[in-house]
Amino acid sequence: MTRRESLARARATRRSRARARHDATRARARATIDRARARPMGSLTCARANGVAIGRRWATRDGRASVARAGKGEDVRARIEALRAENERLKAEVLGLKGDKVRSSAEGGVSPARTVEALAMDAERATTTTAAPAEAEPAAEPVVATAFLGDLPSAYEGESEYGAAAKAAAVRAEAEKEEAAEAEAEAPAEAPNTAMFAEELPERPTPQVTTKRAPVEKTEKPMNIVFVSSEVGPWSKTGGLGDVCGALPQALVERGHRVMVIAPRYQNGTKSDALYDGALDTCTKANVGCFGGLQEVGFFHQIKHGVDYVFVDHPSFHRKGSLYGDSFGVYGDNQFRFTLLAHAACEAPLILPFEGCGGHYGQDVVFVANDWHAGLVPVLVASKYRPHGVYKQARTICAIHNIFHQGVEPSTTFPNLGVPNEWYGALEYQYPQHMRAHALDEGRVVNILKGAIATSDRVLTVSKGYAYEITTPEGGKGMEGLLLSRANRLDGIANGIDMDEWNPEADPDCAAPFSVTDLSGKLECKRALQKELGLPQRDDVPMMGFIGRLDWQKGPDLLQQALHDMMREDVQVVMLGSGLPELEDFMRWAESTYKDKFRGWVGFSVPMAHRITAGCDILLMPSRFEPCGLNQLYAMRYGTLPIAHATGGLKDTITPHNPFGDANKVLAGTADMEKGEGVGTGWLFKDMNSDALMWAIRSACDVYRTDKKFWKAMQTQAMTQDLSWDNAAKKWEQVFEWSKVDPPHCG
Ligand code: ADP
Repeated sequence: MTRRESLARARATRRSRARARHDATRARARATIDRARARPMGSLTCARANGVAIGRRWATRDGRASVARAGKGEDVRARIEALRAENERLKAEVLGLKGDKVRSSAEGGVSPARTVEALAMDAERATTTTAAPAEAEPAAEPVVATAFLGDLPSAYEGESEYGAAAKAAAVRAEAEKEEAAEAEAEAPAEAPNTAMFAEELPERPTPQVTTKRAPVEKTEKPMNIVFVSSEVGPWSKTGGLGDVCGALPQALVERGHRVMVIAPRYQNGTKSDALYDGALDTCTKANVGCFGGLQEVGFFHQIKHGVDYVFVDHPSFHRKGSLYGDSFGVYGDNQFRFTLLAHAACEAPLILPFEGCGGHYGQDVVFVANDWHAGLVPVLVASKYRPHGVYKQARTICAIHNIFHQGVEPSTTFPNLGVPNEWYGALEYQYPQHMRAHALDEGRVVNILKGAIATSDRVLTVSKGYAYEITTPEGGKGMEGLLLSRANRLDGIANGIDMDEWNPEADPDCAAPFSVTDLSGKLECKRALQKELGLPQRDDVPMMGFIGRLDWQKGPDLLQQALHDMMREDVQVVMLGSGLPELEDFMRWAESTYKDKFRGWVGFSVPMAHRITAGCDILLMPSRFEPCGLNQLYAMRYGTLPIAHATGGLKDTITPHNPFGDANKVLAGTADMEKGEGVGTGWLFKDMNSDALMWAIRSACDVYRTDKKFWKAMQTQAMTQDLSWDNAAKKWEQVFEWSKVDPPHCG
């Protein structure tokens, strides 16, 4: 049988299987629809396909109230029939709308005024969505677009007719994808291996550089610096770590240092893979000894803004899902993946030739090991290299961006790490009695961050406040004792921001440019955001935003607690984030309950983050702890005043509202901040409860409504701060120099 025949046969088999699956799903969908029709209304149902929310249906609170009343004596069946008729009417109304346009709530519609096309475009721009929007089911099922992006909990699927329809659409899309893949396989010469790049490239325009910055002071002692990190923006980013490792190295290069950043080369089969197109294979391989053998890793290299970005290549970094996990949870082999990264990073300065662009970095380097993912670097330098005379001049800095994550695995995994046996003690950690599982559990683990703190030459965190907090039992997460013992080598430096990426004067994602001297564009951004979200377009209402991971650290549950109080105020709230399913559901519920005031966007969307930062008046950051926090810095640059919990970096970077400040002087640029003439740049609340949050919100709204001049003065003070990396880079450089003065801490 020829290759073409065998391909044809395989294709036919796959098609018939896909068709069978499709038919079965349609049958299930029909059955679900019939069951749903036979059921009284009373719940919110929604569904999505391939990243785009495609359906949602409400039985209103009126509906529920009606059923309850009916139970008290009316004819229940008649009420149910009435509700069903009302539902049919709503469906017909929605279907009657042309071009998939959904009526705005102002017109009495049931969902935000957004179009399916707009959602599809947003989905394409959202960095984490992986597949193209699936086609919606035929018109028999009404499709109501919502502002949501992100996965629904599976409990919704199958329960809803839309869920079943979405599944059918997904099956069809899958079958089409298979066909496309086969077509590619048949014509390898024209489209070689395009499966990983099947989607369009990201279309985010490059920000223009308009900010005039003071010339950067050059260092007198240029160093070779090697950042090792699990993420680096824009190639890979899930939070602030990616931002820092993307921007700080550039600021250090501007000061005259030679800087390399080493991170994994992630490939997940989506359009984001194309970000690595500019990185070329160095054809240099390293065989690193760990996990019971020699593992071969490759290195890709790209120079950007003078920084050498090196991407470590290994099949374990190529998989669908995000950097650290997928819908099934955190990857089980993260210890393996980041052990590889650390070993590869230790080899890179010695083996990468960088011919024609400076040559080897050599042994006289400063390693910056960011978080636990790079935490083995100081351990390896101390245990594997220095005892053999290598990296004697090198110094290692352990940079803690979040002490919550420590890279903890059972102690039996120690032999896998490729660290000499006699160094077990450096990584060993024993949980206190109350954290052990049972009487025989000794609580012994290997803790990679602990190893990094113990063996590095200096420890750095991302704000002074956090540097103190991690030496306390409340903030140290078990590391406080060790950190206290190293307190004389522990510093905190607040992050800066990328002034080109976050520049209100030239932000390609925003509706209009603005600056501290002309804030009219900010109002346009607010109007555009309200329009995009389908909120009433009002200039006078304070608009508040939240951007961040939906988890315990960031405190979205505090917003949940305070929601009803917040909604009693004349405000608008928009939340952007993804994370815990129950909090994603809360956002969906809040939007359906407070249609004129609340919008929730489940997902990760950098353009949306820019638009919220520019369009809102207030940014909410109720983080329980915050090593530094970047969103409040971005917000202040955009004249959006933060309301934040007084913790860590938030406390360090936000100047609290000072009602005694002199607005006139601040506006004229003559205020003496030392004398207390400053007006502040935001609000800080001390207690982590909804009363404290509401106090800050009411205070902010009061100033917003009643004292426009004071508000503008606060915006001016916020926007004129020096938030650039130049300042921070100088301080980092100082710590590197100090580390060189001292002898190595270990090894
Ligand atoms: P952390 O690193 O703890 O997550 P930071 O405030 O230091 O928090 O940094 C968060 C970064 O991630 C910011 O650049 C923020 O804009 C971005 N971010 C967080 N959540 C989202 C989201 N859902 N969509 C887009 N960007 C997000």
